[in-house]
Amino acid sequence: MIELTAEEARVLGCLMEKAVTTPDNYPLSLNAVAAACNQTTNRDPITHYDEALVDQTLDALREKGTARRVMATGQRVVKHKHVADEALDLDAAEFSVVGVLLLRGPQTPGELKTRTERWHRFRSLDDLEEVLGRLAERGFTVHLPRRPGQKEARWNHLLVAGGEVPPADYVPPPVPQSARVAARPEPVAETEPERGAPAPAEPGAHSVEIRDPATGEVFRTVAVTEAGEIEQKLGRAAKAQKAWADRSYDDRAAALRAFRELLATEAEECAQITTREVGKPICQSRLEITAVLDRIDWNVENVGRVLAPRTVSSAGGVEERVTSEPVGVVAHVSAWNYPYFVGLNTIVPALLAGNAVLYKPSEYATLTGLRIIDLMHRAGLSVDVVQSVVGLGPTGAALVAAEVDMVCFTGSHATGRRVLRAAADRMVRVHLELGGKDAAYVCDDVDLDAAALGIAEGAFYNCGQSCSATERVYVHEAIWDAFLATFLDVVGAYNVGDPTDEQTDIGPLARAGQLDVLDEQLADAIAKGAKVLCGGNRIGRPGNWFEPTVVVDVADHMALMRDESFGPVIGLQRVRNDADAVAHMDDTTYGLGASVFSRDRARADAILTQLDVGNAYWNTADRSTVRLPWAGRRNSGLGVSMSESGIRSFAREKAWHMLSWSGSD
Ligand code: NAD
Repeated sequence: MIELTAEEARVLGCLMEKAVTTPDNYPLSLNAVAAACNQTTNRDPITHYDEALVDQTLDALREKGTARRVMATGQRVVKHKHVADEALDLDAAEFSVVGVLLLRGPQTPGELKTRTERWHRFRSLDDLEEVLGRLAERGFTVHLPRRPGQKEARWNHLLVAGGEVPPADYVPPPVPQSARVAARPEPVAETEPERGAPAPAEPGAHSVEIRDPATGEVFRTVAVTEAGEIEQKLGRAAKAQKAWADRSYDDRAAALRAFRELLATEAEECAQITTREVGKPICQSRLEITAVLDRIDWNVENVGRVLAPRTVSSAGGVEERVTSEPVGVVAHVSAWNYPYFVGLNTIVPALLAGNAVLYKPSEYATLTGLRIIDLMHRAGLSVDVVQSVVGLGPTGAALVAAEVDMVCFTGSHATGRRVLRAAADRMVRVHLELGGKDAAYVCDDVDLDAAALGIAEGAFYNCGQSCSATERVYVHEAIWDAFLATFLDVVGAYNVGDPTDEQTDIGPLARAGQLDVLDEQLADAIAKGAKVLCGGNRIGRPGNWFEPTVVVDVADHMALMRDESFGPVIGLQRVRNDADAVAHMDDTTYGLGASVFSRDRARADAILTQLDVGNAYWNTADRSTVRLPWAGRRNSGLGVSMSESGIRSFAREKAWHMLSWSGSD
C-alpha cells in the first residue's frame, strides 16, 4: 500500500484527472500541474500551491512509483504523468473512484457517481458501490458512518495518513450481493454497434471505454469531447491555422519531420498501444508504423513541390498562373483498422499544406489516436493547429456538423452516407474512404503456391479487417481442386492467438459486434447451400475471437459474397473462364480493388481494365502505397487520398489571369 501526503494526493489526483479529461494536452508541464492543483472547481479543499511545492511533490511521487517525467527527444520541456493505474493496479472503474476521492475527500456514492461521469460511466449506484466495496477489500477505501442529518453514508480513500476514518467499533453494511454480480462485465455484444451502424449513441455517455479485444476487459476510459468543447477547439484551430499557413513550408516540414523522428523513437510503445486496444498482431502493428514513416517522408518531400505556384502559360503578355491556398480547418473522422495509415494519410498532408486539423480517432483506436496527437505536440506542433476530438458516433456527427472547412471521413459506407448528407447543407468539401468487397480471380496458369499465399494474406491479414481485404475469390475451374487444397494448407498453418505474441498471424477482431455479422453471413450462406471447409465458429474464450474460415459452394446472392465481412472469413467460387470471372467480380456495389493472379500480365491487364475499381492488383492484393492515388469507386468512396492528387485535396487552387500593360510592373 502506498501512503501519500495531502499534497501528493492532490498532485496525483490532478495527473489522473487530466489524463482522462484533457488527453490531448497530457502529460502536463509543471505549470499546468500547479494550475490543476489550484483549480477552484472539482477540488476540496481549494489550495494555493506554488510551483516549487508542486515540483518537490512530483519528486516524491516519482520515488513512490506513481508518477513519471517525460521528455520528448529534442524538446526541453519536461512533462509529468501518473502511473497510478500500474502502481496501484486499478482498472478503469477503480481508477475513476480513487481519482475523485483523492481530489475531493469523503463523498457519498451519489456524489461519486456524478463526479466520475467524465472518467467512467457507471450504469447504476450499485455498480459504483460494488467498486467501492472491492476497493475496500484491498484497503484503498473505507465506508464512513452516516452523519446526523445526512441521508447517505460517505466513502473515503485510505491513501493519506490521518484522513477521516470510521470509529473503531463501526461495522459497515455489506455491499449487496446482487450489485456485485450485476457489476461484473456484461456480454460485450450488448453494447456494441451493429456492422455499419453508428457507434452506440448513449445519452449522457461522457466517456469512451477502451476494451482489450483479446480479453473483453475494459482497461481504460477516456473522457468524451463534449459538443461545447468541439466549438472551442474549432475556434482555436481556425485562429491558429492562419499563423500556421503563414509560416514557410520549410518550417512546417521541419515540425512534421520532428514528429516523424519521435514516432520512430517511440515506435515500439506505439505498436503495443495499438495491439492492446485494436487486437492487431504485434508484428503487424510494428510494420504499419514502419511503413507510415515512409509515407510521412514522402509527404514532407512532395507536398511543397506539388502545391508550389506554377505558371502554365505566358503568351501574348498574359500570364496564367496557379497558386494553392489551404482549405482551412480539416475535420478527420477516422477508422480503427489501420490507425496510423488512415489518420496520418490525412493529417500529415493537410498540415503540410497549411491547414489545421481536428482529428477524431475511432472509438476503437482512441489511445493510438491520442498518442499520435501527443507526439505531434511534443514534436513542437502548436496544440491548437492539430487537436484530437474523442468520442463515439455522436461526437463524430457533432464534429461533422461544426463549421469546419473540409470533412475527411474513413469508415463504413453506412456512416459515410450520413456524413455526406450532414455536410451537404454547408457545401463543404467532403472526402470519403469507405468499405470494399474486393474480389480476386485465380487464372488457370498460376503458380499455385504463390497465388494461394497472396490470396490468403489478402483475406486474413489484420484478421481480414482491411478495407481492401480480399473478400471474394473466383477460381478457374481447371485448377479448382489443386488451388483449394493449397489454399487450405496455407490457412491451416496460420497461428491464431495472443496478439502480443510475435508468432501470431491472426488475433481477435477489434469489435465484438462483428462476431454477430460473421455468424449471420455464415448462417445465410449455409442455408443457401454453401459448405464450410474450415473454421466457421467463434472461438470459445473471452474477447472477440473467430476461427479462420474457408467457405465453398457460395453464390453471388449470399450476404457473405455481397456485404463486407471484415473478419477472417472467405468464400471461394468456381468460374468457367475469364469472362465469367469478370461478370462475378463486377457484381458488387463496391469498387475499391480487384486482383488477378496469373503468369500472363497481358491477360491480367485485360481483365482488370474491365473492372470498375480504384485499385488494380496483378499477383498481389490488399496493398496501398503513398505514391499511388487511393480512390474507391461506387460505394467505396469519393475523392482521392495519397499521391500528388491526394495532396491537392487539401488545397484550394486559385487561377491568376495576369495581363500586363506595357509599362506596368
Ligand atoms: P464506422 O463507420 O463505424 O466508424 C468510422 C468513424 O465514424 C468512427 O470514428 C465513428 O465514431 C464515426 N461515426 C460513427 N457514426 C457517425 C456519424 N453519424 N457521423 C460522423 N461520424 C460517425 O467504421 P469503422 O468500423 O470505424 O471502420 C471500418 C470501415 O471503414 C470498414 O467499412 C472499412 O472498409 C472502412 N475503411 C475504409 C478505408 C478506405 O481507405 N477506403 C480504410 C479503412 C477503413
